[in-house]
Amino acid sequence: MLAIDIGGTKMSAGIVGPDGTLTERRDAPTPAGTDADALFDTLAALVLDLPFAGASACGVGCGGPMDRGGEHVSPLNIPAWRNFPLRARLAALTGMPVFVDNDAKALALGEGWTGAAAGCRNYIGMVVSTGVGGGIVCDGRLLDGETGNAGHIGHVIVEPDGHICGCGARGCLEAEASGLAIRRITGADPKDATPEMIERTGTLVGRAVASVANLLDLHLAVVAGSVALGYGDPFFAAAQREIDARCRLEFSQGTRIVPAKLGRDAPLIGAARVALIRV
Ligand code: ADP
Ligand code: ZN
Repeated sequence: MLAIDIGGTKMSAGIVGPDGTLTERRDAPTPAGTDADALFDTLAALVLDLPFAGASACGVGCGGPMDRGGEHVSPLNIPAWRNFPLRARLAALTGMPVFVDNDAKALALGEGWTGAAAGCRNYIGMVVSTGVGGGIVCDGRLLDGETGNAGHIGHVIVEPDGHICGCGARGCLEAEASGLAIRRITGADPKDATPEMIERTGTLVGRAVASVANLLDLHLAVVAGSVALGYGDPFFAAAQREIDARCRLEFSQGTRIVPAKLGRDAPLIGAARVALIRV
């Protein structure tokens, strides 16, 4: 499977075997600038450098928003692409079927394949990084929703009177616990957050997860992203305490929050899975 991950900071392409192992990868910084074709050319060079002749399909994880199937993508942090016809351009480049989905949904699929949610039929995979995103697997199926945007846990309200979010609402998880939000709230690099701020961030992530667990009868949250993984144990302990306090229904008691396992390979392994579940 040919796998591609497109983010605001970097782009990667790789080959993922049928057992979910990444055998080749190429990375390049995402060009700044506003030239849509220059950006695609950088991606194309990465892809063409791979020995992908044996691959049967191509899976892609890309920042949102996008329309269903990634026919047109407008990643918030890639200003060069607005309504960029990503799926069709990659299909023309590679000559194979191409499947595009949100990068957080892809990550959730990857963790469910060979990572911390392997074998689990009901879980949420999420990312606490510059922003907060997620993907939900329910009854063994990745939830898409009406427009493909199911799983946006970053916009679950965790503080009714909290900060204004980029989406326009107030008190969304993303407006309180993302790297960008922490920088805005503290005026400092999220890396240098105080123990109180780390605890608060974990608590709020746990609060959102508890709502999802109660709503959907799922019992596992797998979390990636440099904020969550950088804060580590104190973050996960605070999140778990909040979940224990708020998941009180018989079925939701015992819900767990754990770090993602696939590390820097997760986006590409997830992207491959995006293709695998659709072919
Ligand atoms: P992206 O958002 O592009 O997917 P990351 O997952 O690396 O990338 O998240 C970047 C965010 O994580 C930034 O807001 C950055 O300030 C923050 N960050 C990076 N390292 C740490 C760390 N050790 N502890 C807490 N936050 C961190
Ligand atoms: Zn919001």
